[in-house]
Amino acid sequence: VSRIVVKIGTSSLMHGNGKLNLQAIDQLSYTLTGLVNEGKQVILVSSGAIGAGMGQLGLTERPEQIQQQQALASIGQSELMTVYQQRFAAYGQRISQVLLTHDILDYPQSRQYVHNTIEQLLNWGVIPVVNENDTVAVNELDHRVTFSDNDQLSAIVAVRSHADLLIMLSDIDGFYTSNPHKDPHAKLIKELHQVTADSLKRAGGAGTVFGTGGMATKLTAAADILKHNQMMVLANGTNPSIIFNIMNGEEVGTLFI
Ligand code: ADP
Repeated sequence: VSRIVVKIGTSSLMHGNGKLNLQAIDQLSYTLTGLVNEGKQVILVSSGAIGAGMGQLGLTERPEQIQQQQALASIGQSELMTVYQQRFAAYGQRISQVLLTHDILDYPQSRQYVHNTIEQLLNWGVIPVVNENDTVAVNELDHRVTFSDNDQLSAIVAVRSHADLLIMLSDIDGFYTSNPHKDPHAKLIKELHQVTADSLKRAGGAGTVFGTGGMATKLTAAADILKHNQMMVLANGTNPSIIFNIMNGEEVGTLFI
């Protein structure tokens, strides 16, 4: 494995009280820097902008209004990048910010520019930190800010950059036979080769007030990965150094292959 996309969810980046989990961000920075130092190319897809914005303003509930969500994302994105910048710099790792929207990726010309930029960054040993550009990205269908799609965005980035592996970190050990927060008999599925209608039925809603996607968007992302004969691991990001265990080939989380 030489090119890895890591997606980290809001729930792994935030404490329950709405503050950024600085220890998790520090561990993530340390771990990803370690991979780059081993000669690997790393792309980080990071959620958490709206959650961080909510924390800054002391909000405990995600507001309904799109303009408020987008303004929160704008506040939080800059805080998030400041923290990443500081933590990665402490380990001597350069990072960059790449804000994407889905429509950019629909146009061959702009898609090519994005591709070229990311290739250049990786060649320079920089870790691109990718997020959706929430200020302009609104889902036309349900008129919601489409940040929940960072799961899908990470799959798109992994497919387009021909990554060897997509590591998706969440607040749960992997994909279970049903939501373990509701069903004490839920069992961890260690390996999945196909995302079926039945698997989607087993994925409920989002787990936290700050999280957005829930398991369904992760499964959709996994389906995209499998369609392109790529690999994805869904694992618990409470301690981001779990990435080292995954890279060592240890059996953690759910492997989509
Ligand atoms: P993130 O913020 O990391 O993207 P989410 O909170 O959006 O995470 O999604 C993870 C949550 O999905 C879990 O905490 C759990 O409550 C919920 N969930 C629903 N169905 C399942 C399932 N079958 N297996 C695992 N988690 C599930």
